[in-house]
Formats: sequence, structure tokens, C-alpha cells
Amino acid sequence: MDNWRIFKDENSLEYKVRPYFNHSVEFKKHCSVEERMKTLEEVGWNVFFYPAEMVTGCDLLSDSGTTTMTNQQWASMHYGDESYGGNKGYFLLRDKIKSIFGDDYFNDISINKPNAFIFHQGRSAEYALFASVGQLGQGLVIPSNGHFDTTKANIEINNISPINLFSKDLRNNESTFPFKGNMDTDKLKSILIENLGKVPVIYLTVTNNTGGGQPVSMQNIKEVAKISHTNNIPFFLDACRFAENAWFIKNFEEGYKEKSIKDIVKEMFSYVDGFTVSFKKDGLSNMGGGLFIKQGGLFYEKHSNFLDDITNYQIGREGNPSYGGMSGRDIMSLVEGLDTVVSEDYLNYRVRQVQEFGDAMTKRGIPILTPVGGHAVYMDVDRFFEGTDMKPENFGGISFTALLLGLYGHRACELGHFAFGSLTKDGKDIFPDVNFVRFAVPRLRYEKDDLESVAESVKCLYDNRDLISGVNVISGKELPLRHFKARFVFK
Ligand SMILES: *Cc1c(COP(=O)(O)O)cnc(C)c1O
Repeated sequence: MDNWRIFKDENSLEYKVRPYFNHSVEFKKHCSVEERMKTLEEVGWNVFFYPAEMVTGCDLLSDSGTTTMTNQQWASMHYGDESYGGNKGYFLLRDKIKSIFGDDYFNDISINKPNAFIFHQGRSAEYALFASVGQLGQGLVIPSNGHFDTTKANIEINNISPINLFSKDLRNNESTFPFKGNMDTDKLKSILIENLGKVPVIYLTVTNNTGGGQPVSMQNIKEVAKISHTNNIPFFLDACRFAENAWFIKNFEEGYKEKSIKDIVKEMFSYVDGFTVSFKKDGLSNMGGGLFIKQGGLFYEKHSNFLDDITNYQIGREGNPSYGGMSGRDIMSLVEGLDTVVSEDYLNYRVRQVQEFGDAMTKRGIPILTPVGGHAVYMDVDRFFEGTDMKPENFGGISFTALLLGLYGHRACELGHFAFGSLTKDGKDIFPDVNFVRFAVPRLRYEKDDLESVAESVKCLYDNRDLISGVNVISGKELPLRHFKARFVFK
């Protein structure tokens, strides 16, 4: 059989097979439609309050901390060192961060100032950064290609104004541009002129979770870096999905096909002065986050006085700098997870699974944001309800997520008029530019059939969209981060 090559179909069949197998599984509790609907009514139709044990379908509420860990990760947790100072995992993490993101992101603190800060989640890393730059004056603004909800909240708590500069392609349904997560750099330039001396840092979220989970091109990263540095402003990444973003650069940006994911990641982080990250996403960890400031970068040079403030904050609120807010065993699972997340086998399957989930929706005529990003499928709520009586103030996305969970057992998340909207002082609705329901795909957790069944359930709702009524908000409408708190009734 020395002519076996004629049978080989270049990769196209091979990639459809998962590059891993089930190591252990968990059976779900049975739960009827009646029980789900009754429970949802009791929790005010807010799917965040709904018990996860009663999610009989796919739980696509978030891809954060919901990763199924590898057996190496579980095994590594037994090696977790829970020492108060200088635990073993800290040094392993230091080497891993340096090897993935660059040597300048994790100083040896016996020699240099601390520049790598471990936190229990991304949001506390954000707070630490914004609390320090908030001291730089009044009326500050922080532009981004799309601030995540906690990032926005942490900026506002520190009396700074977050600004979103979504790309023009994002709301253009005709556009097939693969990097709709890019920042609109023309708008950035005018923002910098309007707010001269008031921009402490410029942010780029990779991938752009608030902007439809869309990736950001290397070219955009370079452009924003150039604008930031010409204006003497430090440039940071919100790096939660850095590896998935690198996959898109490799596959869709000219000149990167032959480069390894690891090299692309290194290049991405070579242009920035620091980053905040949640390791609950592309750390494949159930818990963890960090703030990393490049030694010799613009932030480090301009604001080295903040490094001690951040350390004080970390010690006061999270823990000794060698573990931050993480347990030693979580640090070990993170070190392992970072290795897996940049491997091409893992990423190829991961992102393609999400793409195929998007295809399953499109095939059924469901209006989603295309091209699909790396961690989630975003359904366009405005287009879903087009031609029906649903009004923006009736929050059709909330009705949809409640019914999807109640009737079919799948949990998704409204990220649109309700989550990102707010009220004026006299109680009028302010709606954001984007109106999505997000189906976030947890890493290594579901199989193709599971996701097909979600698409089929969404189609059932889509076919009956005329019959879906809106909701009234009975409490929490005026609160910040209201989607986590509000309760609703169907009209
Ligand atoms: C999840 C997330 C955060 C916050 O991280 P947590 O670990 O959940 O606190 C920040 N930015 C983006 C883009 C995220 O997806």
C-alpha cells in the first residue's frame, strides 16, 4: 500500500474529528418544560438568577470560567503549592507568561519593580489599573474598540468616561470583512483632539466581546499603537481572548499564514505597553486574571509611581503578590491551560466549532452577525424581530432568552438594549448601538449535536417570532449592570 497518498483528503475530514476525547462526563438532572417555566417566573425571567442545575440543554450564558479542563490541568492541581509567599506555581507562571507574551511582562521582583500582578479575575485587574490612572485628573476618557461591561463599570467607578469606537463594518451586514472588531482609528484621532491631555490610556479588546466577539487585525493593533505612541499615550490590550484573536490573524490576514500562533501572539503583545486579562477565557482556567505592564514600555516609564500603588491594592484586596487572588492549585491549572490554548490543534477545532455553530444558525435563516467570531455566535435582535410588533423598549432580547431557556432548556445571554442600555435622569431609555443575544460557547465542553440542537430551538422561536411578547421591567431598570439584577414580567 505505497500509494496511500491518493486517499488523503487534505485535512478536510481530519479536522472534523475532535482533537481530544471525553475523560470524564457529568450527567444532567432531568427537568421538564413546566418546571423550567415555573422557576423562570419565580426568578423574574432573568436567566442569570436561574439555577444552572436546571439547564437541561446547553448553557451558553458565558464562556468565562466554564472551560472543561484537560486531564493535565486536573493532574497539575495536585501539585498546587498553597504557600503564602513564593509558591511554586508563581515561578512557573512567570516563565509561562514570559514565554507566551514576552520577556518584559514579568519582572523578577528581587531585581526590578513589580510589573506583573495576579488577580482573581480580570475585573479586579481592571479596577487596579483604572483606580491608579484615575488619579491623573478630572474629565478623563478611555477610548476602546468596545469596552466589556465590567471594564466600562470599572472605568466609570473611577470617574473616567469610557468611549466605544466600533468599526464601521460592525453594523454593516453586507460586509464580509473578517476583522469587524477593529477600532475606528479616524474616530480615535478626533477623540484625541477633542480630549487633549485627557486620555490616560487607549484600550483594544481582542477579540471584541462587546462588538459581536469580532477579531481585531494585526494591522489595526499596529495602527492604534502608532497613534497612541505619537500622542505619548500608553496602549493596552484587554487580552481575554488573545489566542482566538491570533487564530483569525493567522487564517485571514495577509502575511500570517506561515507564522505560528505563538509568533503571532508575541507580535501582538510587542506593540502594547500592557494588558489586563481574564484567564477564565483563553487561560482555560476556571478562575484567574492579571494586569501586566511592559518593563520599559510607555506606561512603565511614565507612571512607575503607580506600580507601588497597584501592589498595595493587590495586597490589601487580593493577596500576597505571589498568588494575588488565586489559589496555588488554580495557578497550576492556568500554567497548563496557557500551553494548551496556544496549540494549533486546540485552536483549529475550537474556532471551527464556533464557526460551524454559526453556519447552523445561518442555514436556518436566523439573523446573526457574520462572519462569526471565535467564542460566540451573536444573534441580531433587531433583525430577528423585524416586521413584528416588538418595540425597542419592550426588550425582545430578554423575552427571547427567557423563552429559549424555558421552552428548550438552552441558556443564552442578552447583550443589547437591556444589558448595555441605561436611563436618562428623567427616566427615558438610552439604547446602545448594538443589540445582540450572545450564544457563548464554553471551551472543550459541547459537541456538534448539542450546538445543532440550539440552532434548531432558535429556529422554532424564529418561526413563531410574531407570537413573542415583550417584557416590562419590574425592578432594577435604573441600576448600573442592570442585566444581572433586574426582574421582568411578560406583557
Ligand atoms: C470576561 C471579560 C472581562 C472580565 O474578566 P473577568 O475575569 O470576568 O472579571 C474583561 N474583558 C473582557 C473582554 C471579557 O470578556
